Amino acid sequence: MRILVVEDEAQLARHLTRSLSRHGHEATAIHDGAEGLSAALANPPDLIILDLNLPGLDGWSLLKGLQESKCPSRVLILTARGEIENRVKGLNAGADDYLSKPFSMDELIARVEALGRRGATPTAADLLEVADLHLDVHHRRVSRGGTTIPLSPREFEVLQVLMEEPGRVFSRTELSKRVWHRDHDYDTRTVEIFITRLRKKLDSGFDLPLIQTIRGVGYTIKTPK
Ligand code: CA
Repeated sequence: MRILVVEDEAQLARHLTRSLSRHGHEATAIHDGAEGLSAALANPPDLIILDLNLPGLDGWSLLKGLQESKCPSRVLILTARGEIENRVKGLNAGADDYLSKPFSMDELIARVEALGRRGATPTAADLLEVADLHLDVHHRRVSRGGTTIPLSPREFEVLQVLMEEPGRVFSRTELSKRVWHRDHDYDTRTVEIFITRLRKKLDSGFDLPLIQTIRGVGYTIKTPK
């Protein structure tokens, strides 16, 4: 993988790039946040290893810049030990994984390999769009009007099924089958609960509701007329 390390501690950055290179990756290091962001946007690497505490531009702003530009790179954030809030905040801000400092190089390499296995750079088919709602299959990320919306894995799957065919009406039975993989004994109540949860997260606070109920039939997602 092509990996960009954004870390201001020069010694750690050097240690990281050397270890990554030894494992067959092409790694470069940048010690400043603003430079890191421009490098990432100019030529998005497969993975960005991002320290949150940086000079120039902090890791949070960098993460935000990547999101706003829909940078396809995966991001592994480095947080200080015990900062559980930062881990949650980071994952909600679009990071794919995190590692708490101090960490062992073996652990880092394992995380990097796991992120690499998630697949190559996303294609257009991985980026679904209905009005101002965006779903990035590859990064499992959803945003509406530019704001990231955290979804549970199941909520994400329900939304993905709907967004893959905007305007098509899915019955509760079909959603149950597609998402929960039930071939019989359809749990339509669960589907209703998930639709309610998705509406709360995606539609409340917006003028135009995107998830629509077709009475007696099921649900669809589409741009309202
Ligand atoms: Ca730092």
